[in-house]
Amino acid sequence: MSETGRQADERTVVEAVPTQLLIGGRWQAAASGRTFAVEDPATGKTLAEVADGNADDALEALAAADQAQSGWAATPPRERGEILRRAFDTIMSKQDDLALLMTLEMGKPIAESKAEISYAAEFLRWYSEEGVRIAGGYNVAPLGGSRIVVMRQPVGPVLLITPWNFPMAMATRKIGPAVAAGCTMVLKPAALTPLSSLALTQILVDAGLPGGVLNVVTSTSAGATTGPLLSEPRLRKLSFTGSTEVGKKLIQSSADQVLRVSMELGGNAPFLVFADADLDAAVEGAVLAKMRNGGEACTSANRFHVENSVAEEFADRLATRMGALRVGRGTEDGVGMGPLIDDRQLAAVVSLVDEAISRGAKVRCGGSALPGPGHFYPPTVLYPVPRRAQLRREEIFGPVAPIFSFDSEEEAVADANDTEYGLVAYLYTRDLDRAVRVSEAIKAGMVGINQGVVSNPAAPFGGVKQSGYGREGGREGIDEYLDVKYLSLRAT
Ligand code: NAP
Repeated sequence: MSETGRQADERTVVEAVPTQLLIGGRWQAAASGRTFAVEDPATGKTLAEVADGNADDALEALAAADQAQSGWAATPPRERGEILRRAFDTIMSKQDDLALLMTLEMGKPIAESKAEISYAAEFLRWYSEEGVRIAGGYNVAPLGGSRIVVMRQPVGPVLLITPWNFPMAMATRKIGPAVAAGCTMVLKPAALTPLSSLALTQILVDAGLPGGVLNVVTSTSAGATTGPLLSEPRLRKLSFTGSTEVGKKLIQSSADQVLRVSMELGGNAPFLVFADADLDAAVEGAVLAKMRNGGEACTSANRFHVENSVAEEFADRLATRMGALRVGRGTEDGVGMGPLIDDRQLAAVVSLVDEAISRGAKVRCGGSALPGPGHFYPPTVLYPVPRRAQLRREEIFGPVAPIFSFDSEEEAVADANDTEYGLVAYLYTRDLDRAVRVSEAIKAGMVGINQGVVSNPAAPFGGVKQSGYGREGGREGIDEYLDVKYLSLRAT
């Protein structure tokens, strides 16, 4: 396609997105009248101006959610499910346009945006199916005299806060189960990437979601805008995906109203390669686990621990594969790695790599930022890396693969668990007994065995330790939006 044709397509997908707040079923300007710019991280150019909501807008949105709650809870589950199903169909029919929009605001290559769009849509399909299977129970009390009836009801209005790295999937992973369970919502998407969430919102409205069920408040002042909601008795739950640092603050603020809280927080995923592993598969899995979303993923392999006898060969092969990826604007053909999201993220990656090099890490490929415009950092492999390097402990959130070596299974497990995080771990081995032993010993919410991706809408996604609590996806995901009520029924 010609350059001007491509630019016209880009303009068209951006101009199709509503840029105001959605409150009580009506798109409206922010109370302050302010807007903020959403930038293309590959060029630094402004894509759109979006309403900059504040606490007044958020409180109005909560009032709308509260007003819609009882009617929504009483809506037949099948009706709620069919809205999700229609939205799934629309998203899939618009996959190309939505992928282009996502790449423009977030930077990842088009193929990855397409993959996220279908991953995101699958949460709506999955929960369109789960919503009609919300089961309870009926028991005779052990001593007789009464019956124990258990039912599950929607928690009530929920506040959903999402990050910039998966701008649509992080929203549908919450909206899907909330809709299915019968909860109304206030969604606060990340200010860096609000357009995909706004496009999704329009799709849900067009699919028949009644006014007030989903309210969306975009904002550049996340804390000041959403903070007052946490002390409002009408809000009954907070579901947050983002950094551990912000998550901890929100857990504290949620204590006042004893809010139900789900936290999907940061990670520091170990990727273990044992000498008996299929090394070709391990290298391919490593590229996937490291380079999905350019390393800007909570599930990104943050550190590679490889058995000594194969570490050198693994480092060589990984550097060859990662070094061959073309870096550029995600809209261009053949690009395997887009820009990082912003200058702050770029500076954080530069600082972690420089610190590791200053301690003696050896660069196998990449290793320094690329010239702008845009925030580009190349795929980077470091081996060997001293244990004390900061990037062994911190979430890198960039395309950097530090490789460490180990001598025994015991050491590998100890290395894997040597972190305050516990989201996901990966391990490669051909020995089934070892795979079971190590998986059971690893303290993480998810383990990828001989594969570099674990995300699946039908599986319970989530972490332990400082990676959070609660699960999204799978049969478990809907529980986060349901309260259990027990009825004691006198019966002789
Ligand atoms: P972040 O800075 O914690 O922001 C996440 C969301 O919280 C954004 O919408 C942000 O708004 C908002 N926020 C920031 N400060 C807030 C406050 N004081 N009160 C209320 N909301 C606040 O995280 P991020 O940089 O966007 O995302 C990267 C992090 O998310 C990484 O640590 C990654 O591991 C984690 N993550 C975890 C998962 C998971 O499932 N476990 C998935 C994806 C990402 P603004 O952006 O508008 O300021």
